[in-house]
Amino acid sequence: MGSNVLQIIAYPHPTLRRKSKPVKRVDSELRAIVAEMFELMYAARGVGLAANQVDLPIRLFVINTDSDPEKGVERVFINPVISQPKGFAEAEEGCLSLPGLYGNVIRPKQVRINAYDLDGNEINEELTGLLARAAQHELDHLDGVLFFDRMNETGKVDVRPTLEEFEIVFESQRKTGGVPSEADIAEHWAEWEKRYA
Ligand SMILES: [Zn+2]
Repeated sequence: MGSNVLQIIAYPHPTLRRKSKPVKRVDSELRAIVAEMFELMYAARGVGLAANQVDLPIRLFVINTDSDPEKGVERVFINPVISQPKGFAEAEEGCLSLPGLYGNVIRPKQVRINAYDLDGNEINEELTGLLARAAQHELDHLDGVLFFDRMNETGKVDVRPTLEEFEIVFESQRKTGGVPSEADIAEHWAEWEKRYA
């Protein structure tokens, strides 16, 4: 277990709809996974990545709003809770699990986040701007929510054909064994939840 190479899974992989479990322990393997998540995120030019986007159903995500290992700040949020939303802002979002799909989402402009970092230090901060948006997008992932779920009705109609293309690709991969069966996915969830949750 854990020897699998991490990769970003695409919609409609079932782990993206899983409500992830709180993390109970951090070990060297989890630290290595987090480092690998940053690498995958940078390679895909993203600003955030949730653990269930690399098929791990546990509550953590990583963010670097500069999307560059040489710049910005690498942030890890474990067991995050968001509260005290203030204001609203609309902006275009994308998602590494839905490459090529973009759409406008309205979210609170400012939020408070409580979480832990990899060393067990408590995080308690007000987030604004892109960091606030990214954190809300990633926290949604941990609850099995995808950004298009939060688009308005017109936006949802606009993205439907693209989502159907993702669904067709996934089904054909499943038929050829390119993605695991439901039973294998459930077994994989149980293994990881036993280890970390
Ligand atoms: Zn996403």
